[in-house]
Amino acid sequence: MPGILREWYNNYMRIEEKELRLTKTRIEALHQLGISDTEELFSYYPIRYDILNSSDIETWQVKQNVTFEGTVTGAVRHWGYGKKTNVIFSVQAFDRILKITVFNRPWAKSLTDGQLVTIRGIYMGKDKVTATSYDLKPLSEHPLITPVYSIKAGIQQRTIRACMEKVYAQLVNEIPDLIPEQYIQRYRLLRKAQAIGSIHFPESENDIRQAYRTLKYEEFLKFFLTIQAVRDEEGEGIVKEPKRFDRNKINAVIRSLPFSLTKDQEKTLHEILEDLSSPHIMYRLVQGDVGCGKTVIAALALYACCLSGQQGALLAPTEILARQHYASLQDILAGTGCRIELLYAGLPAKEKKEILDKLENGETDIVIGTHSLLQEGVQFRKLGLVIADEQQRFGVEQRRRLKEKGERVDLCLMSATPIPRTLASTLYGDMDVSTIETLPGGRKMPVTKYIRENSFRSVLDDVNRVLAEGHQLYVICASVEKNEDYHARDVYETAQNLQKLFKDYKVGILHGKMSSAEKDAVMNRFQNNEIQVLVSTTVVEVGMNVVNATGMIIYDAERFGLSQLHQLRGRIRRGNAQGYCWLLSSSAEEKAQQRLSVLEKTDDGFQISFEDLRLRGPGDILGTKQAGVPDFILGNVIEDTAVIRQAQNDAKYMMENRQDPDFIRAVDWVLDRARSHVSFMD
Ligand code: ADP
Ligand code: MG
Repeated sequence: MPGILREWYNNYMRIEEKELRLTKTRIEALHQLGISDTEELFSYYPIRYDILNSSDIETWQVKQNVTFEGTVTGAVRHWGYGKKTNVIFSVQAFDRILKITVFNRPWAKSLTDGQLVTIRGIYMGKDKVTATSYDLKPLSEHPLITPVYSIKAGIQQRTIRACMEKVYAQLVNEIPDLIPEQYIQRYRLLRKAQAIGSIHFPESENDIRQAYRTLKYEEFLKFFLTIQAVRDEEGEGIVKEPKRFDRNKINAVIRSLPFSLTKDQEKTLHEILEDLSSPHIMYRLVQGDVGCGKTVIAALALYACCLSGQQGALLAPTEILARQHYASLQDILAGTGCRIELLYAGLPAKEKKEILDKLENGETDIVIGTHSLLQEGVQFRKLGLVIADEQQRFGVEQRRRLKEKGERVDLCLMSATPIPRTLASTLYGDMDVSTIETLPGGRKMPVTKYIRENSFRSVLDDVNRVLAEGHQLYVICASVEKNEDYHARDVYETAQNLQKLFKDYKVGILHGKMSSAEKDAVMNRFQNNEIQVLVSTTVVEVGMNVVNATGMIIYDAERFGLSQLHQLRGRIRRGNAQGYCWLLSSSAEEKAQQRLSVLEKTDDGFQISFEDLRLRGPGDILGTKQAGVPDFILGNVIEDTAVIRQAQNDAKYMMENRQDPDFIRAVDWVLDRARSHVSFMD
């Protein structure tokens, strides 16, 4: 590691290793929030700010939040016992006497005549204020702006604020700038240390704006530098031996399908076959909405590879999906002579060894499995093509491992989170992109209703109708078991309640913590309609294909990303019957409400991911991170197009002139990261 880089890394050490003088409790709290080093701490940005409103009483509106300073006058009275108390006193402020009420703060009764207080509360009209908090510091000592962080139950805002202050004070002089000096000057950006200070401890709204400008630019610059770095690195090994195969044989399989390919499917297949037969390594993203028919494209591409005398691998994100692909491929490629195997974790050792041997000897043409296919010990005789399905995480590291499996392997990623074409070419700048826009005909958009409470009482009749018609129902919960820190409906309790409610039907449970055998058993019973109501986590998100299931209830819908919800309801868009989806959420947040209403209006995956990205804010990083799109904390890929373009150009220039001393720090940082853990579709 070059010296300058080491210096950078030393600043960003793991929190417990660095002498940060934080208490154990505080370190524990940070860990709970997923913060383990100082870089993560500094980029744990506030989700919003409370701005102190110290306006004059003349401008106050009823129900408005107000903050003011005054002097207690006269007696302080109180009622009630213990924590259920009610304290009333008068305060002289703005040359008037205001009547203050404080609920459930018994200690307020110790206020005395003549004491100076600063009160925060709600103006009730007629010189009355209900205080939400008060203290004995003068107003001038209160910060004008208070950052608010996303926290979990049991952790307090002031804990994270205190950690931030403490660590920042200790490291402020050691934080180096990653953005080159010339760009800081040109765009009038802040120094990194100042930007971090301003975003966490702003003194004005302008501070926040300036910090955002700098940190967003840095985020995008890092991203594009990384893309550029990877592209450069791959540039050398790009040539391969073209694959040769008989297109007539592929056309014969297409003719044998029970449907004809859509125009977009044909075009995508054509692009892939061209890549395979070209002298360049394929690195292509195929993106298309759920149900647009990507599997058949994968099957045909793998077949082409097999015809060229090489082996192909299909990676699925879950075992359930791997099994389904195995069944589909056997079906699609029946009679071609293609030898297909399924490799999964729970396979008995003996069978597993047989499959591994066959792969190594070249007796298997296509292997389907999860990520474990990329592990050591899996050897191919001649691997020519890897297709990663629904693969959101396929970083540089996986690509490296892949390269070790075979020589010059073609790679195709399939994503069901499509993003608009122009955006795709920017964000996936290191890949070629094929887009399947149209769905096969005959599919109906599920009727989607957003219910503003976390209970489906109001649609019980509709739900009953779905069941009475002989159709099945999915019920999606955000968590498996009851969890103190995470107040969401859980699978177990929900299933119990629903079984009581739907006495005539069988309720089943499915979640990721079950063993594969248990999962399989439940899936089969649902498939065979022995279970009518399946209460599940998002494990059904990908793959599940039960045509008779036409209803879906999603609890705590605001906890999911829009694209994820769209994927989920894709499960009830499998057949020709009308599907119904109920999104339940008691969230009062305007943004959550806006997001959920989008799904009522549109079924277009592109539009949905666009809205998802647009409505994303810094706070969404915890819960509703969108799969398949790079992870910008502050940057918004829809709204920040100007910065994006700037950063993209600058990154290109920097990589071309990387010997410029002003660029060295950023370039080194990126090269080092690109080799270790950055992943593009993360
Ligand atoms: P996804 O793109 O979500 O992976 P799948 O490949 O699972 O979609 O396809 C969904 C369903 O659509 C499958 O049952 C598949 O057989 C069917 N299908 C695929 N292509 C077509 C087509 N051109 N016409 C009709 N049905 C199709
Ligand atoms: Mg699929």
